[in-house]
Amino acid sequence: MTFEDLKLISPILKALKDVDYTTPTAIQASAIPLVLNREDVIGSAQTGTGKTAAFAIPIIQHLVNETQNSGGKRKVQVLVVTPTRELAIQIAESFTDYGKYTNLRNTVIFGGVSQGKQTNALRGGVDILVATPGRLLDLMNQGYISLQHIKYFVLDEADRMLDMGFIHDIKKIIAKLPKERQSLFFSATMPKSIVALSQQILRNPKKVAVSPVSSTAETIQQYLYTTNKSSKHDLLLHILQDAEMEQVLLFSRTKHGADKIVKNLHKRRIEAAAIHGNKSQNQRQKALKDFKDGKKRVLVATDIAARGIDIDKLRHVINYDIPNEPETYVHRIGRCGRAGEEGISISICEPEEIAYISDIEKLTRQKIELVEDHPFPQTDRPMNASEKKEVEKEKQRKKQEFFANRNKKKGSQNPGFRRHKR
Ligand code: AMP
Repeated sequence: MTFEDLKLISPILKALKDVDYTTPTAIQASAIPLVLNREDVIGSAQTGTGKTAAFAIPIIQHLVNETQNSGGKRKVQVLVVTPTRELAIQIAESFTDYGKYTNLRNTVIFGGVSQGKQTNALRGGVDILVATPGRLLDLMNQGYISLQHIKYFVLDEADRMLDMGFIHDIKKIIAKLPKERQSLFFSATMPKSIVALSQQILRNPKKVAVSPVSSTAETIQQYLYTTNKSSKHDLLLHILQDAEMEQVLLFSRTKHGADKIVKNLHKRRIEAAAIHGNKSQNQRQKALKDFKDGKKRVLVATDIAARGIDIDKLRHVINYDIPNEPETYVHRIGRCGRAGEEGISISICEPEEIAYISDIEKLTRQKIELVEDHPFPQTDRPMNASEKKEVEKEKQRKKQEFFANRNKKKGSQNPGFRRHKR
C-alpha cells in the first residue's frame, strides 16, 4: 500500500515525500481511512508505531478541504492533548511537517516555561493546538483559549495521562468541548479505567490496534552483558569503544544515577547529557537538541523523561540497569529501530538483576543474546535472603547515622533555633 492509495490530497503527499515516508505503517493504513470517513477511533498503539501521522494527516486533510479563507482571525479547530512536553513538541512538529504545503497554523503549549510566547502565538490565531493538560486549563481559565470551535479532538497516550494523575484535568477539558466533533483516542494499554474514559469521549468508535506492549520490534537486536555491580561503568566504557555507536540513548533508573553516569563519561571525554525530572524544561530541550544534532554522543535518561521521545534513526539503546517491570524494558528498547530501521539494544546486568531478565523474556517471548566475550565478566552471585536483610539493615543504620549527625550539626550551628522550636 502507498500513501496515494489512501486518497490523500497532493499537498500532503508532497510533504510526506519530503520526510521520506513511502509506505504507511500498520496504524496509518488502518486509521487514516477511518478518520477521513469521519469515524471516532480508539487506537491501541504506542509511540514508535507512526500513530502521530495516523491522526495528524487525515485531520490536516479535513481542515484543508473545509477551511475557507474568510480573512478573519483563525479559530482553534483541532485540539490534541498529550501528557508530556516532549510529546507535545514532537506532535506539533509533525503537524508542521505534514502540513508544510498548506497554510494551516499550529502551536504548542506546555507548562514549566513562562507563558508569554505561548499566549502571543495564540493571539495571532492558530488552527491546530497541541497541549499538555495543566497549561491548557490554565490558559483557558485566563481566557486565552476557547474550545468552542473545536471540530477534532485527539487524546494521546491516555494510559500515561491517567498514570500521571491528569484524570480530573481531562474531564474538565472534555466538558468544555462542543458535542458535535470527531474524537480520536490513543493509548498503549487498555485497562478498564481507560475503556471507561474512552466511553465518555467517543461515539460508536472504530477500533484499531497495533503492537501491544509485549511485542518488541523485530528489527531490534538485543544483547545482554552480565557483570558485577562495581564493574558496570568500566564495561560501559568498553562497550562505547565501538566507534559505530555514534548516538546512544542510555537509560538509568534514577536521576542521581543519570547525573553520575554523565559525570563519569565526561571524565573520559565522552560527550554526554542527562534528561530527567530535576532538569529544567530548557535544559531538557537543549540536551535533546544537542543529541539529535550529534553534539552529544550519549543521552542519559530516566524512564519518565525518555518516554515518547522520538529520535529519528536512533540505532543504539543501552540499559545501564535492568528494569524490574518488563514493560519498561519494552518501552526503552522501542526507542530504537523505529519505523523499520535497524536497532541494537545492550543491557548491562548485575547479579541482583538477573531475575528480571527472565520476566522480560517471558513477556517478549524472545531470548536476549548473551555476550560472554568481554573483559568484565560477572563473578559475584546474587545475594540470598539473609544477605539482603543484612544489607538493608546496614543501609538503615547509615541513614539514621546521617540524620543524627545532620541534626547534631544543625543544633550546634543554631542553638537559638532549637530553643525556639521547644
Ligand atoms: P510516532 O509513533 O508517531 O512517534 O512515529 C515514530 C517515528 O516513525 C517518527 O520518527 C516518524 O517520523 C516515523 N514515521 C511515521 N510514519 C512513517 C512512515 N510511514 N514511514 C517512515 N517513517 C515513519
